[in-house]
Amino acid sequence: MASNRKLLVLPGDGIGPEAMRQVMRVVDWFDKRRTVSFDVKSGLVGGAALDAHGTPLTDETMALAQDCDATLFGSVGGPKWDNLPFDKKPERGLLRLRKEMDLFANLRPALVFDALADASSLKRDLVAGLDILILRELTGGVYFGEPRGVSTLADGQKKAVDTQVYTTREIERVARVAFELARKRSNKVHSVEKANVMHTGVLWRETVTKLHAAEYKDVTLEHMYADNCAMQLVRRPKQFDVIVTDNLFGDILSDCAAMLTGSLGMLPSASLGAPDATGRRKALYEPVHGSAPDIAGQDKCNPLATLLSFAMMLRYSFDLAADADLVEQAAKNVLATGIRTPDIASAGASIVSTTQMGDALLKELDKLAA
Ligand code: NAD
Repeated sequence: MASNRKLLVLPGDGIGPEAMRQVMRVVDWFDKRRTVSFDVKSGLVGGAALDAHGTPLTDETMALAQDCDATLFGSVGGPKWDNLPFDKKPERGLLRLRKEMDLFANLRPALVFDALADASSLKRDLVAGLDILILRELTGGVYFGEPRGVSTLADGQKKAVDTQVYTTREIERVARVAFELARKRSNKVHSVEKANVMHTGVLWRETVTKLHAAEYKDVTLEHMYADNCAMQLVRRPKQFDVIVTDNLFGDILSDCAAMLTGSLGMLPSASLGAPDATGRRKALYEPVHGSAPDIAGQDKCNPLATLLSFAMMLRYSFDLAADADLVEQAAKNVLATGIRTPDIASAGASIVSTTQMGDALLKELDKLAA
């Protein structure tokens, strides 16, 4: 079936290709049912691309990503490439994709499936039903600001500098994404910074407040300091819907929120760019986890983080909310029957391989679509 939905698949290294294989079975399932189909291209990234082409991402693959509507990414890295210089490391492939597509908005949902609520480090009643979204600014702030570097002082000491820098435009565009996402969810945004001690925090708060007043008055907006937000995330996480914050705070707070859900193998993410004239945003979808060399090649990994990243792609790149719901519901139903990959196993669970998890998902999709 011809499709105008162009999808680039980059499985990468380690467990990346194993998890992706199961997701591609789901893509085929949609294709066979002739409801949703994709024009799928695939490529190498990370260590796999280094081995084949001497670079973690070729210009050709980069061009493919620019041309496609969405990229589904697995994971990169592994001990084989650990000792390479920084600019050759597998992770550079991912950084190049993010940078050249200007993917400034990083969406990290923290969603607790009922069947897994006991895997959280918090008590069940604090996390059961949790569904929050951390929106991290991804291309600005202290990870990129100039000046940066290490210098030697006259007295022989060393001095290291990183610069936190944000412009109104950078803050406004990520805040806009936050308000738009909140409108599709529970209509609440927490904007998080340190306006009490940082100039960038003051500008962040002013800019978000102004945009809210001008265009998004229907959305509830609250401001919160980043340290308080960290505390509130473990104290009463369900008070949040969408949290929007800068690159550094987002890095830390999204990892904190991730742990509320109990497992790295369950966490999807999306990174979005600015809309073009047709409204299309460049987009990359990937699980939060890495290439897990300790279990790679053993058919043991949990493919659900990659599958849920695919569901995010259906929702955000292709506006296929019902199909995204279907995929998420299939995952929920499979977990509810007690089927688990080893990373999320609990007493009495039925432990399955990566492939068997894929089998169970397809069976569940068949049932849901019947
Ligand atoms: P990791 O996420 O690969 O693994 C951490 C632990 O979680 C391991 O014990 C692993 O077995 C387990 N785990 C992760 N995903 C799992 C899954 N889907 N199912 C079951 N268990 C899972 O992190 P790490 O060990 O710090 O890094 C390993 C490699 O991955 C390194 O080379 C690192 O640089 C790279 N890495 C890549 C990315 C990425 O591609 N975006 C992200 C993080 C780390």
